[in-house]
Formats: sequence, C-alpha cells, structure tokens
Amino acid sequence: MKIILLFMFSIFSWMIDAQTKLEISKNLHTVFSDSIKDRIIMSLDDLFTGIDNGNMSINLIDNDNFDFNRNYFANLKEPGSKDTTEHYFKRRLINLYPVAPSSFMATIACIGNNEIGKIFTILAKQENDGIIFTGPIKYNTKYWKTKQIGTITYHYPDTINMEKAEIFNQKNNTMALKLHLPVMDLEMYMCADYQEVLQLQGCCYDSDFNGMINTGGIVDPKTLFSVMKNEDFSHGIFHKYAANIRGKVINIAAEEGIAYVWGNAYHADIHGRVPDQPELVSALRQYIKAHPEVNLSDLFNENPDALAEYGYPNPISVKAVISGIICGEVEKQKGMDGIFKLIKCGKGDENYFECISTLLQINRKNFDEKVYELLFRKNG
Ligand SMILES: [Zn+2]
Repeated sequence: MKIILLFMFSIFSWMIDAQTKLEISKNLHTVFSDSIKDRIIMSLDDLFTGIDNGNMSINLIDNDNFDFNRNYFANLKEPGSKDTTEHYFKRRLINLYPVAPSSFMATIACIGNNEIGKIFTILAKQENDGIIFTGPIKYNTKYWKTKQIGTITYHYPDTINMEKAEIFNQKNNTMALKLHLPVMDLEMYMCADYQEVLQLQGCCYDSDFNGMINTGGIVDPKTLFSVMKNEDFSHGIFHKYAANIRGKVINIAAEEGIAYVWGNAYHADIHGRVPDQPELVSALRQYIKAHPEVNLSDLFNENPDALAEYGYPNPISVKAVISGIICGEVEKQKGMDGIFKLIKCGKGDENYFECISTLLQINRKNFDEKVYELLFRKNG
C-alpha cells in the first residue's frame, strides 16, 4: 500500500512539474484541497511566465496598489546565471499557507546548483473565480503607524524624527520648484537597514544583496525605503526628478554632485547619520591639509575611501563631494540653466568635463588648481 501511495505521489508530482515551469517542493504541506492548490500553482506559473517574458497579465495583479505591484513583480525576474547558463536558478514553491479567508502566502525559493538565489513570499487572493497577486508590504506593515508630512506619507513601526521629516518635505518642494516639475507624492517606509527593506517587501534572502545594509530603495512610481532609518531621502528623490529631465542617459558624476548639494550623501556615516555636503567639504579640507601629496584630480578619478578616517567611509564618495563643490559653483554662477546643462550633459566623465569646461572653464589640466581654490575659498 505504502509503495502504491509513494508511486501515486511521484506521478502527481511529475504531472504538476510537467504542466508548470514552477517546481513544487516535495516537502510542501498545505491545508488546501488539491483543486485550490493546483489553481494557485497554475496562476503563480502564469504570473512568473509573464514576468520573465515582460508581458505580465494585469488580470493577475491586485488593483489595490496596482502601480507598486506591477513594478515590484517586474523586479522578480528569474535571477540569471553568474556564468553563461541561462536560467541558472529555478523557482520552487516551498511554502503555501492561508493568512485570512481567501488570502494565501506563497513562498518561492530560486535554487540552482545547490545555491540559493532568492527566497521571497507573495500574497495571493482568491477573487471571483480567479487568483490575483500582490506584494505583501501592506500585510507586513499593517500594525505600523502612518503620518502625513506635506506630500510625504511616512510608515513607521514606532517613532519618526519629525525635524528630519520636515527637512525632507522642504527639500522635496524646493527641488520640484527649481526644476519646474510637480511636487511628488511619496510613500516612505522607515527601515533599519537594507535587509529590512527586502524583508518588508517579502524577500527574506537575496544572494545579490546578502550582507548589504547601508542603502535604501525605490519602487516606482512613489514608494521609498529609507536608508538606515533616515527620514531624509532627498538624495534619492533628486535622481527621480532628474530622470524627468534627462531621460535614461545619466551622468553619474554630475548627478551625484547635485544630489550631495541639494540632498545629502544618501548613505549613513559610522554613527548612522546621513551627512550633508557642508560637513563632507570640511572633512575633505582636513584630509587635503593632512595629505599635501594627494591631488584632487586623483581623488576625483579614482574615488578612494579617503574620508573613512573622518567617519565617512565608502559608499560615501569623495568624488561626489568634489563634484558637489563644482556643481554648487555652476549653480552660483550660471543658475538653473547651468544645472539643466549638467543634468543633460550625457554619459561618462568626458562629457562631464566638457560641460564644466564650458560653464566654469575647469578642465583636466587646471582641475587641481581651480578646485583647490573653490575648496578653500572663504565663505565657501
Ligand atoms: Zn545618487
């Protein structure tokens, strides 16, 4: 009897495997009837096929928070291979359980060659005759508090720093005004570190980001995840505004420079604070005084971990601080016309140099002398 049951079980597993690309764990235990379970599995398979082919069916996505969900699911593409083999990781359903009447959580592991690519959970709802899917962020934060500050809605588990939240709101308004763009409505989730950014969205492990803490995230069109619990996300939001002006071609040096001056350094320092440009300029002055043998052009070109000894290690970038000094001078001398030129100057450092050479007559030859003057000028 046992042998027959085992035989039937393996036939059943094979049937599901044959019908779907999604693998099913042999250890999957669920309280659902086979017909519901199969329907969920087939719908999940349709969802993932659509994600991988770039033609997700909107009928499978929850209308509530639709734009977030669409962008969130688009990021769940099957992780590629680290070598050249296509579809190195295979998705496997490893957990399926109810969380409310007609609502289920499905956990999927992406596994390949004894390596785990990613483990994530999505929320499925039975609606009419079909199954629809949503990211579990609302479910995961249902006991959190919310507070509206200007056009920003903060979501947080305990408290927020109102002063920093007001600063972000103010910068958000100022940036939009300067760039002649509408002020963005934003949803801001306060996260302790990047691992929590992933977990809130339902991802409990991602091999691309393991060990990473000092960064935040954006899911278009308007959802932000804080960097190390910092309320002020102005650096990240500047990139979003700038994208409306430049399209997809970004000049990283120019945009980082402006983002440091108008926003902040994005990443936290050793004390968990996100530093702003004036304190980084002061650290750079100290560094240059202490290391007279170092050229500003070498710091710009090589972007070493120079400010670490003052408490601002990588990924806080000395190159961005130097570019910020230059971009600040562009704004001072040429106004917003100069800033628009910087944002739209094209990809790469050569285009950046061409732009600042036209705007400020700073080029590779006179870089050390001119930038040194700007760094150490009075009232600078
Ligand atoms: Zn940036």
